[in-house]
Amino acid sequence: MAVEQTILLAVASSEDNLIHVKNVDNKYKPFKCNINTFNIDVGQSGGPEWYKYFLCGIKGMLEHAKPSDAKGMMVALSGNIPPASGLSSSSAIVSASVLCSAYLNCIPLEKQTLAMISADCERYIGTQGGGMDQAIAFLAKQGCAQFIEWNPLRATSVILPKNAIFVIANSLTQANKAATSDFNERVVECRLACRLLAKMVKKNWRDIWRFADLQVALNYSLEEMEMLTKNYLPQLVYSRQELLEIFEIELDDFVENLLTVNTRNVQIFKLRQRALHVFQESLRVNTFIEVARQQSDEAIKLMQQLMRQSHESLKVLYECSHPNLDQLVELSDSVGVGARLTGAGWGGCIVALCDGIEESIQYINMLKRLYYTNRSQATGRNLNELVFATSPQRGAEIYLLNAARNLIG
Ligand code: ADP
Ligand code: MG
Repeated sequence: MAVEQTILLAVASSEDNLIHVKNVDNKYKPFKCNINTFNIDVGQSGGPEWYKYFLCGIKGMLEHAKPSDAKGMMVALSGNIPPASGLSSSSAIVSASVLCSAYLNCIPLEKQTLAMISADCERYIGTQGGGMDQAIAFLAKQGCAQFIEWNPLRATSVILPKNAIFVIANSLTQANKAATSDFNERVVECRLACRLLAKMVKKNWRDIWRFADLQVALNYSLEEMEMLTKNYLPQLVYSRQELLEIFEIELDDFVENLLTVNTRNVQIFKLRQRALHVFQESLRVNTFIEVARQQSDEAIKLMQQLMRQSHESLKVLYECSHPNLDQLVELSDSVGVGARLTGAGWGGCIVALCDGIEESIQYINMLKRLYYTNRSQATGRNLNELVFATSPQRGAEIYLLNAARNLIG
């Protein structure tokens, strides 16, 4: 589901073939470049500059639509999504950039296409992301969650129990996903796990690098994929040397074709744990939808339980949690609220499910008291921006200002 926080862009076309981007928050420096010649170079340490997320969107739109005469633009960005906190501020910028540049260049695109372009082009920032965040940015609907599936991309509305209240709580620990290799290490481990399973079942492993494709090739259920993992990925750890021997390939081939630029030096891979997390989490998603459909009296309790299990798996099997996130989840548990980290992890926010408004108010007050008081990063901050209830909001939209309306007629 989409949260209430947004990235808002004010956009006008410019006659000079330049992209001028400004941020209303002046800690982010302005930038300009030529729309026909810019490069996105993200090699530097400390994470990419903020405007490069915007440029990813322009590059994605240009490569998709190849307009003969791309228009320059003047852009002011204002955002209130906590950055590097798992609520996908990065994808909000990239998706907004794809949408405004397509609109400005008069390229009509379906929401699904906009989402696919946004998912693909965010990878120019260096993270091998999946695409859920960009999908929900375009396909979100007010008042219900969405079940997102791929090939082709589609979103099915999931009506939540009427007492369900989601609360977001910020751990106050930021994690910029493009600044470290953590995120891509997990992607690489999943791809290796998939290829190893493919090799074990005598499929051409070079052609299959996503679990979903292997599942289709085998015509297996998720339970069968889980069993396959348990049987064929027995080791808790695989070394680089072991993988070279199993795949019967040379080191150069391994580094060049099976790793990413920022994971070239990784020596140890946990394939069993990552694959088990993926299949078990998918099963939990299916159960969550089934529980929502049945709308029984027990629905919220069951959903809370699934969220707890999800966090445990993210912590133990996928290893993308953080002690502060774990503390927030434990505090939630202590008052019977089910919670899990949200977004990629390694910091950022948790999402918690409360049973009714009363429970959510008590829960938020409890966190303010036990988590935020005496934490230096919370000093001087408005606690209502760090922990708040939220409900499913609409996806990306375009607003025409009067001047633009007159121009377009
Ligand atoms: P997440 O997507 O979980 O918020 P990422 O690490 O993927 O975290 O992206 C965070 C980066 O997005 C920030 O470091 C910053 O460069 C950029 N960003 C997010 N919000 C803004 C904003 N309002 N203005 C400028 N840049 C922003
Ligand atoms: Mg992100």
